[in-house]
Amino acid sequence: MSDLHARHKAVLPDWLAVYYKDPLEITHGEGRHVWDADGRKYLDFFGGILTTMTAHALPEVTKAVTEQAGRILHSSTLYLNRPMVELAERISQLSGIPDARVFFTTSGTEANDTALLLATTYRRSNQILAMRNSYHGRSFSAVGITGNRGWSPTSLSPLQTLYVHGGVRTRGPFAGLSDADFIAACVEDLRDLLGHIRPPAALIAEPIQGVGGFTSPPDGLYAAFRDVLKEHGILWIADEVQTGWGRTGEHFWGWQAHGQSGPPDILTFAKGIGNGASIGGVVARAEIMNCLDANSISTFGGTQITMAAGLANLSYLLEHDLQGNARRVGGLLIERLRAVAAQLPVVREVRGRGLMIGVELVRPGTDEADPDAAAAVLEAAREGGLLIGKGGGHNTSVLRIAPPLSLTVAEAEEGAAILERALRSVY
Ligand code: PLP
Repeated sequence: MSDLHARHKAVLPDWLAVYYKDPLEITHGEGRHVWDADGRKYLDFFGGILTTMTAHALPEVTKAVTEQAGRILHSSTLYLNRPMVELAERISQLSGIPDARVFFTTSGTEANDTALLLATTYRRSNQILAMRNSYHGRSFSAVGITGNRGWSPTSLSPLQTLYVHGGVRTRGPFAGLSDADFIAACVEDLRDLLGHIRPPAALIAEPIQGVGGFTSPPDGLYAAFRDVLKEHGILWIADEVQTGWGRTGEHFWGWQAHGQSGPPDILTFAKGIGNGASIGGVVARAEIMNCLDANSISTFGGTQITMAAGLANLSYLLEHDLQGNARRVGGLLIERLRAVAAQLPVVREVRGRGLMIGVELVRPGTDEADPDAAAAVLEAAREGGLLIGKGGGHNTSVLRIAPPLSLTVAEAEEGAAILERALRSVY
């Protein structure tokens, strides 16, 4: 055990730094690479945790943050704040939500908590619909509605939550159905549920489940849900914490794959927008955002130093069409990984969109999740100089690949080759 690991264990919770048997100390990064304290270089296929959206140490972001730090770090939401207004203008326009207002928080959790506060207040109901296998953050209300027991350490939710089918399509009662039949079955299930209960405040859903293992429902599922929700006056909250900012390649937001019934009522974001600076937020129609009649400020939400990072990062992303890059390079990477998977029975499925790619592992010859294989592949990939993530419910057996969106074709090839060796070394 390294000296830092021993000191970490002495003062920090046991549930931190649990990815590797011998946790890594990352000291710096550049582009798509990071270095550890021993000077070893790694290709970063997890981008922090989808937080490094453009690139590590992006000069444009560093310059903006340094210049802002020389003026003021923070002045609080009691005063006007130019970078906050400018970033809100851009996000409001990008959100697709009419007459949108943006409220900045410091994390995805706080964003979802705020969305739940808005929805329950606006609709005067403390019932929430959430998806099975979902994850929405770690505050008491966010873990309380999370439909994934590996990530939800309490069942004592302050909200009453009902879980809907649809986030995962490879397992569960509707597995194996065609897209259209899957959507029809999930909609029927939702209709049936709503026929028995008083209308909940909102449905919260990740367009592609992140922590749940990058599982993607058929396009249009949430549009079909939306039609049913509208009949009951129920709001739709799209949790775009992982799927926003062009990560899925085809769309800027994940909800756009389900956009036939228009944008969500409430959208939450975080992770990549600050490229590592702590920015989260909520976008909602003015009428919903302004339903709160008491102060609900976030002391550090929208602080100048993070807004400067967000503005520079978003400009870079749009000017360099990183969404298009995610589509092209992600498409090649998925193809390459599928070719590898075809030869390895441990891989059940390679799935994904853009640079949000899941590789689900099973015990060969069965349909059983194999968390041991996933943990071993993570270690072997690290040995080979590649960092990846994992997820997929309490049996975390899905390798998660979500590099910075500036990934090059050569880096995609290099990472795929390391991952192939890691998979073959385990099986
Ligand atoms: N929502 C989703 C979909 C997430 O994946 C996460 C974090 O992984 C969160 C919310 C919580 O965000 P944060 O960790 O920034 O609080």
